[in-house]
Amino acid sequence: MTLPIKLGILGAGGLGKSMARMALARGGYHLVAMADSHGFCADLTGLDAEQIQTLKTVADYPQVGQRVSQDPVLAMLKAVGSDLDALFIALPNLPVTFYAETVTRIAQETPFSGIMVDALKRTKAVQELLPLDGLLRSRRILYITGAGATPGFLTTMAAVAAQSFVRVKAVDIRFGVGVSNWESYRATIREDFLHLPGFDAARVAAMSDADIEAELEARNGLIELENMEHADDIILAMAGVCPPEAITVGGVVDTRNARKPVSTQVTVTGETLAGITCSHVFTVADDATMADNVCGPAVGFMNRAVDLHARGFYGLSTSAELMPKTGPSLWVQNATQKLSAPAMAMV
Ligand code: NAD
Repeated sequence: MTLPIKLGILGAGGLGKSMARMALARGGYHLVAMADSHGFCADLTGLDAEQIQTLKTVADYPQVGQRVSQDPVLAMLKAVGSDLDALFIALPNLPVTFYAETVTRIAQETPFSGIMVDALKRTKAVQELLPLDGLLRSRRILYITGAGATPGFLTTMAAVAAQSFVRVKAVDIRFGVGVSNWESYRATIREDFLHLPGFDAARVAAMSDADIEAELEARNGLIELENMEHADDIILAMAGVCPPEAITVGGVVDTRNARKPVSTQVTVTGETLAGITCSHVFTVADDATMADNVCGPAVGFMNRAVDLHARGFYGLSTSAELMPKTGPSLWVQNATQKLSAPAMAMV
């Protein structure tokens, strides 16, 4: 790979469009292709990220040839996959197998052979990806999963904070998110509904946009989330930090106000060498938005992946695997099947 890194983005909603801006603002990137549910656009000399912000679909981007497609991700990567160095995935994650199926098809059916980074949230979605390690290696692709805000920014923060303890007792992630309207982040808000009492994937998939709006209206625009099925658990357990049961994720999302309803905090509680139990508490600046906290770290993980790829590292890695490791992964004997307490007692 040579600079600038030639970037493709899968998904052109709230996070896909924010990544178009963030990657260019951070520098070192040339945005050359984007896909959404209607089609794709591609220009090896570089797309205009500001023009992308104004489009309903990226298929409307002025370009040579019609780029509307029934299967936009594959169509884009069959057309320009061999010219791309990096892919950021900002697609919806419903059903939970969608990312694993899409990544499998990219590896098997397109010439793409660079680095991929996602901002997946659910534990089950990350578990679906783990068995793809061999396929990705064989295609010389390096894929980093869980590289958004949570999992991602906050998870890796916890993995580093864990290092000053001889034993970690608990990790608690509490996030505050404010968005001025839910339509800018449809997939994110729909996915949040999955974690509310009385909702599941089938129910959310069957809900129309009007149904989502009615539910938000009943909640005054606020979604309060507790004990979420979030991949911070499997990612931190694989990094040897603590058992998945000791990791809790929750938060408050205001869908009508860009101001955060609560500050985002990570609390890592552990025991020091002197036997004292205490906590590191990290608070994220309220002015750093969800887009900052997802796309900024994802750029950082893309930069790291590009370096590792150049040195011959391929396959699947979690974001926390790029941090110092706390200890053996006692709690995840078969991460693709289930999370459980270790069969042997923890030493
Ligand atoms: P969005 O609904 O705003 O945008 C989704 C985009 O994907 C749209 O452009 C849509 O056209 C496109 N799309 C849908 N199906 C497609 C298909 N089959 N082929 C090609 N394109 C398709 O979504 P968003 O709010 O930007 O969220 C994107 C993802 O980011 C979600 O999976 C969400 O869970 C995740 N997310 C992660 C974090 C984190 O901290 N890890 C935070 C927020 C969101």
